[in-house]
Amino acid sequence: MKKYTTVSVSTTELLPCPFCGSRATLSSLPMSPSWWRVRCDSYHCGGSTWAMGEAEEAVNAWNRRANEQG
Ligand SMILES: [Zn+2]
Repeated sequence: MKKYTTVSVSTTELLPCPFCGSRATLSSLPMSPSWWRVRCDSYHCGGSTWAMGEAEEAVNAWNRRANEQG
């Protein structure tokens, strides 16, 4: 089992960070590979979704938040 996975395909569906406009990345939690979240690529921003059971849920949550801020 992989301990850490980044899904590059789904990043094309991610909207920019609603807080700072940086790119965001979908990844599984290092400690819990079955959980997913989207995080802002900016270390100083720290924007992220809650951990979700499905990668698609995390993407949807991120994009929904981005739209709310927009
Ligand atoms: Zn950000």
